[in-house]
Amino acid sequence: MLEDLRQQVLDVSMQLQGAGLARGTSGNVSARDPESGMIAITPSGVPYHSLHISDIVVISPEGELVDGRYRPSSETPMHTAVYRARQDVNGIVHTHSLYATVFSVLNKELPVVTVPMAAFGPVSVVPFRLPGSRELADEVVRYLGSTGKSVLLQNHGALCVGRTLGEALECAIYTEEGAQVSYLALVAQGLTPIPDKYVAIMKKAAESGKAL
Ligand SMILES: [Zn+2]
Repeated sequence: MLEDLRQQVLDVSMQLQGAGLARGTSGNVSARDPESGMIAITPSGVPYHSLHISDIVVISPEGELVDGRYRPSSETPMHTAVYRARQDVNGIVHTHSLYATVFSVLNKELPVVTVPMAAFGPVSVVPFRLPGSRELADEVVRYLGSTGKSVLLQNHGALCVGRTLGEALECAIYTEEGAQVSYLALVAQGLTPIPDKYVAIMKKAAESGKAL
């Protein structure tokens, strides 16, 4: 069932691991089929390196298991809540990537410091709630709002959404890169965000699909 969608989730999971954004079983990936509303999501507790396409689970919009031999990710409530709140979102990537997590521990909003970040920044921090809880799902929805693409989860990691799973992956990569650049700039001397007027111009360009 939904083989293409499962394959996308598997491919992005592998790319996350390859890019060093996911280790062990941390983080999770999902994609929604816009036609049926069904969601393909990584299983709970299966390490990335041993993931196979048949391990990717299919769930209903309410998070009930439809097809698969494993339990869906423990963060399923966060994924389904975002899909219910945002019809424009068809892909979600949640990571515990190192520098994004550092900023989430600093409880510090990530300013727009790199050109790709203009498409989704600044990135605010969702207050700590128990992983996998309904409360965390509600806060993530609230902080993403109607157009947000990237948030940090306090003392936990990052969550990125996109119209496609590819977009969500790109957002996760650039969120981590932005956090890394910010951290190193702060440690080296100080951090200069891109001026707001240029962020606004670049954000518009990114929304209309122009490459930056
Ligand atoms: Zn997590």
